[in-house]
Amino acid sequence: MDFTVPEELTALRQSFASFLEREVRPLEEEHARQFWGEAPDRDVLAPVIREVRRRSADEGFYSSYLPEEAGGQDLSVLGTTLLVEDAARSGMRLAMAAIAPPNPAGPSTLLLKLPRSLWDDYVFPVARAEKTMCFALTEPEAGSDAQSIRTRAVLEGDEWVINGHKHYITNGENADFAIVFALTDPDKRAAGGITAFVVPSDQFRRGKLQWNISDSHPAELFFDDARIPADHVIGEVGMGFFEAMAFLNAGRAYIGAQSLGLAEWCLGAAVDHAAKRTAFGKPLGKNQGVSFPLARSKADIEAIRWLVYHLAWRVDSEGDPLSIMADASITKFYATERAYEVADRALQVLGGMGLMREGPIERALRHLRMLRVVEGASEIQLLVIARSLGL
Ligand SMILES: Cc1cc2nc3c(=O)[nH]c(=O)nc-3n(C[C@H](O)[C@H](O)[C@H](O)COP(=O)(O)OP(=O)(O)OC[C@H]3O[C@@H](n4cnc5c(N)ncnc54)[C@H](O)[C@@H]3O)c2cc1C
Repeated sequence: MDFTVPEELTALRQSFASFLEREVRPLEEEHARQFWGEAPDRDVLAPVIREVRRRSADEGFYSSYLPEEAGGQDLSVLGTTLLVEDAARSGMRLAMAAIAPPNPAGPSTLLLKLPRSLWDDYVFPVARAEKTMCFALTEPEAGSDAQSIRTRAVLEGDEWVINGHKHYITNGENADFAIVFALTDPDKRAAGGITAFVVPSDQFRRGKLQWNISDSHPAELFFDDARIPADHVIGEVGMGFFEAMAFLNAGRAYIGAQSLGLAEWCLGAAVDHAAKRTAFGKPLGKNQGVSFPLARSKADIEAIRWLVYHLAWRVDSEGDPLSIMADASITKFYATERAYEVADRALQVLGGMGLMREGPIERALRHLRMLRVVEGASEIQLLVIARSLGL
């Protein structure tokens, strides 16, 4: 086994790091109050986030994981994983907008299953960061049990007519179009009865924004007799559930990488604080009550790292996201749960500053708390792992 990160990926990481410092850091500092101070102003932030996406797309980072024919650079899953980790580890909120996965606003590989005639409308503009999208699977009555969705699509002549209600959809507020999962055969459901469609935003209504523990604000989407041409299908009719699961599985490495990067950021901030802050006549870190939790965090981070890199390597070498299901679940479960504990320990070491919005930990902790629920909550990952044990 060779655990060395290939040289070309090390070079890519360095150029991404310098891009973040040169192009993103100044914007992050200029708008710091938006993140750490009073409630963020969406009218101010939305254009800044668009600008980060655009600059990153211009330099080739944003969509690098897409194939060249789609406007990307064919970057491997391992390479993308390393960039996602680096963006999260930078501690900059805006850095996560600079890289498409795991952000559903960016181009999804699901789009590559659209007919070529639709790529000009849906693939290239998202790859160039001129448009954004969203991934609309979850419904009020169907979250973890995604095959219970009620949204219905019926073919009428040469159009699909879609009716239904989605919620918790990240970037639902701004998306130019949505990838929508709907029932096309209610008897078959997951076994050939769910189809993925691409639906432009003039065919759906946006409901309320759903403010939550994280800084993202997903939205409700309503489809009332939405009409789309018959060719707006992703992959094959009836295969949408498999497409969704395969896509989410492959994406587990990116959720893991995000957790890893945020955990590294939190540990770095806590170690720095423990070395500089004195209490009772010595640096905090000279107390084992402080240094041991941080040492434990370091051990956790290394375990997360190798799970995440290994998963990325498996996706790259095996290509079939469904064959790595158990590994993907182990990684999503372990990385998000342990990274949250790392952030919590870091918060404790920073004391009052750990709780402050202007401090380095609070946002990371809230974001990590969200990651334990979204894209398959921890219990759903345990369900998959238990099944792999034959239980
Ligand atoms: C901020 C945010 C962003 C999101 N973005 C998107 C998005 O862009 N697109 C999208 O489609 N969805 C999105 N979601 C939805 C998200 O993926 C779901 O919230 C998640 O899958 C859980 O579904 P649920 O909320 O309906 O919880 P439920 O499915 O009702 O589950 C509630 C709890 O019960 C547990 N549970 C359920 N079944 C079992 C079982 N069999 N055994 C043990 N425990 C079980 C779950 O683990 C969970 O802890 C987002 C959610 C949030 C909060």
